[in-house]
Amino acid sequence: MAVVRAFGKSSTGMIQREIDRLAALDAFDLLDTPRDEGLDRVVGLIKEIFTVEIGIVSLIDAHRQWYKSCSGLSAEEVPREDTFCRYVVDIEEPLVVQDATKDPRFAQHPAVTGESHIWFYAGVPLKTKEGHTIGTVCAIDRQPRSFGRRDLKILTELAGVAMDRISLLQSAATDGLTDALTRRAFKQEADQLISLALRHRHDVSCIVLDVDHFKTVNDTHGHAAGDAVLKSVAATCQAALRAGDLFGRLGGEEFAILLPHVERDGAVAVAEKVRSLIASHTVGERQLKVTASFGISALSIVGKDIETLLAQADAAMYRAKNTGRNRCVAWSSLPTDQTAGARRRVLKAGSIVFNDRRSSIDCTVKSLGSDSAGLSVSNSAGIPAEFLLSIKGEGFETRCQVIAQDRQNLEVAFR
Ligand code: GH3
Ligand code: MG
Ligand code: MG
Repeated sequence: MAVVRAFGKSSTGMIQREIDRLAALDAFDLLDTPRDEGLDRVVGLIKEIFTVEIGIVSLIDAHRQWYKSCSGLSAEEVPREDTFCRYVVDIEEPLVVQDATKDPRFAQHPAVTGESHIWFYAGVPLKTKEGHTIGTVCAIDRQPRSFGRRDLKILTELAGVAMDRISLLQSAATDGLTDALTRRAFKQEADQLISLALRHRHDVSCIVLDVDHFKTVNDTHGHAAGDAVLKSVAATCQAALRAGDLFGRLGGEEFAILLPHVERDGAVAVAEKVRSLIASHTVGERQLKVTASFGISALSIVGKDIETLLAQADAAMYRAKNTGRNRCVAWSSLPTDQTAGARRRVLKAGSIVFNDRRSSIDCTVKSLGSDSAGLSVSNSAGIPAEFLLSIKGEGFETRCQVIAQDRQNLEVAFR
């Protein structure tokens, strides 16, 4: 069994390794992307072969473990510090805990002592060709298990299959459920359209939309009904767009539209049209109704690439969520004294520091500009309205004020 030896390494080396690891994870651009049948099969095989209750293929960012595919647990993500898998990321080697109640590292862990009753854990690193551990593949059970050399070899092979599948996913252009472009393909095509627009000085605008209270649809009517709603929302969007427009699925119930030759006000009109179409449609025999919130951004001196346009539209979309949902908000109508500048999508490890530096919470910095940032946390409850944000390994520290927030996202302006 692997021994935790992370503390044997220099902390500067570890911080640099973590920066490189996050950069590798960012390059895959897979966090919060939709489920994939191929990885679901790997997880099914893990359960079948080892006869365990839980199988997971996960990605681990700065503050959380996110389940790209998971069977046997209802959560979609957990705070990184609460996981067994963080040890696998630290040691970059497999970890087998045959009986967590007898392992001093885990015996007092809430997942072991509490209701979830995680007693057996076997996890292997999900490693890129370059050797960065971007996540884990694991088998988990609620009773002690033995796990021999051969078992570990099989699990390691399955991690290889998962990694191959992830590499293959990079080349997929469309999403299986909705026919929308994948997030990666959307960005690639958007980059090209934006380059053309900059060269020929024409407009481009961007819309991000997120279905409102979608979790309730799944919880009340089941996953299949949720899928039908997503298909219908996507079809509504696609029918409303022109042939040269781009339509992509950014994540579970979040979509993006790129409109060449359309300026901001035109894009607001398109968003408003799509918003009212979605709100007026019903889906299936149960006649389900959903709404969506929209954020709009446009090419400008502070937004000249797709990452910035998406980050701006995303921030505006959060504003739409915070001001009642089922509405459209354009980026430039955000108060300019709070967040005026460009923001790029990034993936960096950050700390939210408060209470006279006595308290800190890990976060992932998802977008960053000269006067604002977008952060994501496991739970935003308890974070004060003002705090210090530091980015690990970069010596970056600045005072922030929260200007918008939901359960897991914070939009902050630098003071
Ligand atoms: P909000 O109005 O704030 O956006 O709330 P929400 O419930 O829409 O947002 P939240 O992020 O809490 O929940 C999104 C849900 O979408 C959770 C996840 O299970 C579900 N989901 C993600 N991808 C899929 C999918 O492919 N199919 C189905 N049916 N559900 C999905
Ligand atoms: Mg939503
Ligand atoms: Mg969402």
